[in-house]
Amino acid sequence: MPRPLSAIIHTSALANNLAVVRRYAPKSRIWAVVKANAYGHGLARVFPGLRATDGFGLLDLEEAVKLRELGWAGPILLLEGFFRPTDIDVIDRYSLTTAVHSDEQMRMLEMARLSKPVNIQLKMNSGMNRLGYTPERYRAAWERARACQGVGQITLMTHFSDADGERGIAYQMEAFERGAEGIAGARSLSNSAATLWHPAAHFDWVRPGIILYGASPSGVTAAIEGTGLQPAMTLASELIATQMVAAGQTIGYGSTFAARGPMRIGVVACGYADGYSRTAPEGTPVIVDGVLTRLVGRVSMDMITVDLTPCPTAGVGSRVELWGPNLPIDDVARACGTIGYELMCAVAPRVPVRAE
Ligand SMILES: *Cc1c(COP(=O)(O)O)cnc(C)c1O
Repeated sequence: MPRPLSAIIHTSALANNLAVVRRYAPKSRIWAVVKANAYGHGLARVFPGLRATDGFGLLDLEEAVKLRELGWAGPILLLEGFFRPTDIDVIDRYSLTTAVHSDEQMRMLEMARLSKPVNIQLKMNSGMNRLGYTPERYRAAWERARACQGVGQITLMTHFSDADGERGIAYQMEAFERGAEGIAGARSLSNSAATLWHPAAHFDWVRPGIILYGASPSGVTAAIEGTGLQPAMTLASELIATQMVAAGQTIGYGSTFAARGPMRIGVVACGYADGYSRTAPEGTPVIVDGVLTRLVGRVSMDMITVDLTPCPTAGVGSRVELWGPNLPIDDVARACGTIGYELMCAVAPRVPVRAE
């Protein structure tokens, strides 16, 4: 028997979340972002739930090829473009669309031998200062791309730093409009946060990632209340032991938690080797037997320990939800000082995953 820990991918939630994106951006086409193995959910496992998308966005050539092998014949966008000249052979063979963000990539494209023109998304650095051409250099880059024989359609692309936050997108919209002024072509700007909260930035293509998986772009669960988004993953386990401890007794490595009075402790099959963050502090929410309780003591490699005071009937075999429909991943992430994105991407290969 495997350990009683598994991740369940909810196909209907993925399809629902894609429909939510359509409702928010009815006039735009959708790049469903499935980088990082579909944010830890598994590319092959999310494909059935997301196949009503217009295109898929990802980073790895291998994942792009895998999508083709799954039968996806539509657009696939390489969000960071390519890294070596030989990558362009794969782009050509599998008819991929690629971001182009630098002169180095442009030069590789100019030197490439292609069987047909490749569609590109020319990336502008509108203020995030990671990838792309500055607004001042954008037109020249676009003209260079247009003059390149191997280039087909050119979409204008940028990425927001603060679409989920206080600063917002105005400073980047201003830079984008300035750099793209007078340039024809489709536009692709919005990540999940802009898809939900900045309709003026939707344009021709939106690029949602995290909301397809039912988590919050800002890491705050309340921010997506009322959107209709549903968690696409449940991380579930069971109690494998219980302990009665007396006042003053401690639990786990480092004896970081001491019982104030007699209490019952549950031991859950899930630890940091499964991707559950070791930074999860005392008080991190966990659901046992349908009841909300809290983590106590340190996260071990293969186990965590929880307070069974609110769940007196729980025993060995009781179901545990680490996150899922009853416990938003962002609430767990918040306790750990991170965001849902990181937790879902960190689910370890040893955790059995199944779709339903
Ligand atoms: C990851 C990524 C997205 C999706 O971001 P979310 O916040 O998950 O919606 C969109 N565009 C680019 C270029 C990305 O790298």
